[in-house]
Amino acid sequence: MKNNPVRPEGLSHNELLAEMGLGPQWRLRTTTAALAEQREGTLGMPAKAASQPGQSDRPTQPLQPQPGESCELRIARMDWADLARETAHCQACGLCRQRRQAVLGVGDTAADWLFIGEGPGAEEDARGEPFVGQAGKLLDAMLRAIGLRRGDDVYIANAVKCRPPNNRTPEVDEIAACKPYLLRQIELLQPRLIVLLGRVAVQALLGESGPLAALRGQTFSHRTPHGEIPMLVSYHPAYLLRNLPDKAKAWQDLCRARQMMRQAKATAAD
Ligand code: URA
Repeated sequence: MKNNPVRPEGLSHNELLAEMGLGPQWRLRTTTAALAEQREGTLGMPAKAASQPGQSDRPTQPLQPQPGESCELRIARMDWADLARETAHCQACGLCRQRRQAVLGVGDTAADWLFIGEGPGAEEDARGEPFVGQAGKLLDAMLRAIGLRRGDDVYIANAVKCRPPNNRTPEVDEIAACKPYLLRQIELLQPRLIVLLGRVAVQALLGESGPLAALRGQTFSHRTPHGEIPMLVSYHPAYLLRNLPDKAKAWQDLCRARQMMRQAKATAAD
């Protein structure tokens, strides 16, 4: 795929920095419960059940493996209810030992936008929703800056579904153990665009472990049986909280993402 030149648009630089948290514009995010009342299914369950492939009315029984079927292939047959149940009981890696709960994802399961972060922290582990701490507030502001809102045409997931102890970076084998769930989420969502937030998300889907600087500005592609989904890389909100000057670069990434989304929709409409 071709790389598009980056050209911020819409908000001015200063307006954006204010919107992203360098100004007095923080607004408290709608609570999960309130959001869930507004839209069904914001805790990783289907918002538009009828439109979800693989959706079933079989919420309680585990999906039985077929003879000789690998764990990956069984997960690849799951619907949202299966994923929620399975991740809640998953013991595929050591992260299961200290989690309070698995955090599958949040948002609109028919979303065009998929944002992928690293893994739950303490607040996410307690509440069962990704990005609800300080990094989450910044992510919400970033979404708002390009006219998006969590739960509305946006789905947010993590590379790993369980909190690493002391919020350490997930290990490569933990990322790998969780990858079938992430792949199935992508397959069920079929988003038009995937934004990889930070190195762990990059590691999960691109297999790269180098610095982000070389990856930003490029367009990658995630292959699914239904087609290729464009992906781009940006900074993790937690990193941006520690490195304020890089917020301007994140804004460039968001503008490019918005442009790519417009392009994807225009192409689909042709
Ligand atoms: N950081 C992440 O990557 N994910 C979360 O859910 C919270 C913080």
